Amino acid sequence: MSAQPWYKTALRWGQTNLVECDPKRYDGNFWREHWKKTRVQGVIINAGGIVAYYPSKFPLHHRADMLGERDLYGEIVKEARAAGLAVIARMDSNRVAEDFYAAHPEWVCRDIDGNPYRLADKYVTCIGSDYYREYLPSVMEEIIERSQPDGFSDNSWAGLPRKHICYCDSCKTQFRAYGGGEIPRKHDWEDENYRNWLRWNFTRRTELWKFNNQVTRKAGGENCAWMGMISGEPHHNSQRFIDLQKILAETPIVMLDHQRRNAIDGFEQNTEAGKRLHEMAGWDKLIPESTPQYQLGAPVFRLSSMPPSEVRLWATSGFAGGIQPWWHHIGSSHEDRRQYKTAEPIFQWHEKNQDVLVNRTLTPDVGVVWSQQNQDYFGRDESDEKTLAPFRGIVKALDRHAIPYVPLHPDDIASAFERVKCIILPNIGALSDEQIEHIKSFAAKGGSVIATGETSTATLYGDRRPELALSELFGVRRGQGALGGTGPINPDIETWGRHTYLRLAPENRASAYGPQDATAPKEASKRNPILKGLEGTDTIPFGGYLPLMTVDPSAEVLATYISDFPIFPPETSWMREPKSSTPAITVKTSPAGGKMVWFIADLDRCYGRDANPDHAQIIANAVNLALEGNRKIELSGTYGVITAELYEQDGRKIVHLNNRLLLSNVPGRQYDLIPIGPVEVRLAVAGKPAKAELRVAGKSVTGKQEGGIFSFVVDAILDHEVVVVE
Ligand SMILES: [Zn+2]
Repeated sequence: MSAQPWYKTALRWGQTNLVECDPKRYDGNFWREHWKKTRVQGVIINAGGIVAYYPSKFPLHHRADMLGERDLYGEIVKEARAAGLAVIARMDSNRVAEDFYAAHPEWVCRDIDGNPYRLADKYVTCIGSDYYREYLPSVMEEIIERSQPDGFSDNSWAGLPRKHICYCDSCKTQFRAYGGGEIPRKHDWEDENYRNWLRWNFTRRTELWKFNNQVTRKAGGENCAWMGMISGEPHHNSQRFIDLQKILAETPIVMLDHQRRNAIDGFEQNTEAGKRLHEMAGWDKLIPESTPQYQLGAPVFRLSSMPPSEVRLWATSGFAGGIQPWWHHIGSSHEDRRQYKTAEPIFQWHEKNQDVLVNRTLTPDVGVVWSQQNQDYFGRDESDEKTLAPFRGIVKALDRHAIPYVPLHPDDIASAFERVKCIILPNIGALSDEQIEHIKSFAAKGGSVIATGETSTATLYGDRRPELALSELFGVRRGQGALGGTGPINPDIETWGRHTYLRLAPENRASAYGPQDATAPKEASKRNPILKGLEGTDTIPFGGYLPLMTVDPSAEVLATYISDFPIFPPETSWMREPKSSTPAITVKTSPAGGKMVWFIADLDRCYGRDANPDHAQIIANAVNLALEGNRKIELSGTYGVITAELYEQDGRKIVHLNNRLLLSNVPGRQYDLIPIGPVEVRLAVAGKPAKAELRVAGKSVTGKQEGGIFSFVVDAILDHEVVVVE
């Protein structure tokens, strides 16, 4: 018997997500063999909720078709126990069928006219009702009594998403008891009662999480934890009122349900999600992630095998972010049997190398600030464009230049200087006074800060401040209005818009305007290093959004805005106003010596959308300037498609190199793996390492040690490489 609880020791998970016809076809021998081959240490087994897989004593607890009196759930639990596996009982509980609704209409969400909320043929239950307070707890107690699972997970536990408002009687009473007024009639971010309703909704989900844990731990013992599934998609949690900071701090393990590919992000997003969630949960917790072995993108094919290369890229991207593997099949029997072959090599590699995949410390070069409050209260209904797109652009730019970053919550900036010397604020408009103080004190210690767009323009709840809260620090002040726009540029060539540019400081001057250095020699080397790599051009494309600002003499302007002019017909395509005094990029040195860079022009959002390499270059240059060349790790030979993550563990360094090359026009879809290399890795080290151990290639390479830098070459990276430097 292990001294540690299951949630500390079960690294690899498997889930055969039962469907209603499985009672007549589940093949226990096959799946036991599959557990063994894939080296899983825990399984997630469908127990109850919308569909029960055991003969529940509750008459309204709908049994799977063809279940009869059979206890399929209980049988699988026994087999898992015999195989020495941890067991999580899976619930899916946010909807009920017609008969249930007829018996308990008061447990179902209501729209403003009092009609029940429906999804397909089911009714959505309200998390404020006794369905969650009494009925589900008694179901969980029944499951515990029958089978003693190690813990519970629930698929869609958080109830009605933000876009809908529930007007049921429980909600009305409970919101009043919370100190709210009437349930808001519409989404109005300016309305204090609506904001109160939002806060109440976050609070009640956190309370529901705690309450469910009280229920399961009371009936099943102190380690019988209840875990709602958590998404790694930044929007998803806000839209379901899941307060990640509070809930992740509470839970002993994070069951990550982050399977679906979107149309914008590639595999790198899984690394980002792992790092971001670990930062809030703690790096000592496990975050297994449900990884579909079937096609889950747009469109979805639940029963068809996902290309193995795609599963490998998603899983290994997760490993780089501290995520553990968990295979997921829909149904227990498949005609597309190719999906049974995919997990085995991934999981076996994981077992062999688990010593370097957990219990380690992330050591990034830069912190990228992100918060749910900024998404919600500053992003509001436009959070996709307003707050998420800038964050995504920064992350993509850093990835392109293989700069390891950590997603950082504003509350954690206070202690960030020990870890990183540079933080980036991608349009973090909503910041509390306390968070502003954290940023100022980070700068006072000598840290560098890169801010973009309208950072610090509002309070935590999105109320406009009279002036940017960080204006002194950066020497930048808010003007009136803005130029350009944030969404995709209109593809209609006749009405194109936003044909705008940035004018860079002349090559023989440090600044775009302002005090001139009359004595400066006229060679092409006077520009700020932020513009490095752009020799040979005075302008770069822009096409983005630029809030108007004024700049104090203490800050230097590195680029100005060139306003829109026609692209069609070609004869009209010339700059009407080639020069302006509208600042686009500024830099100032803080009294403590850090660099304060402001991208007034939204190069972050632009790069995330348009992938213009000049924009990524400038962002990476700003980081390099901030770090004064003291990078913990640098790569060359990456073609911009190999990313680096760096960890420390007992004095050794662990480097993840991930191949981000995309061959399909759907991010997150990949049929083939294309090796990239040779890649040179330069690692800042204190001692004298002799060699680097390549855990994927299965060999060691010798390196060179020179001036505190250990450099070595990795010949090729197919999907990923994990390097251990002792
Ligand atoms: Zn309600």
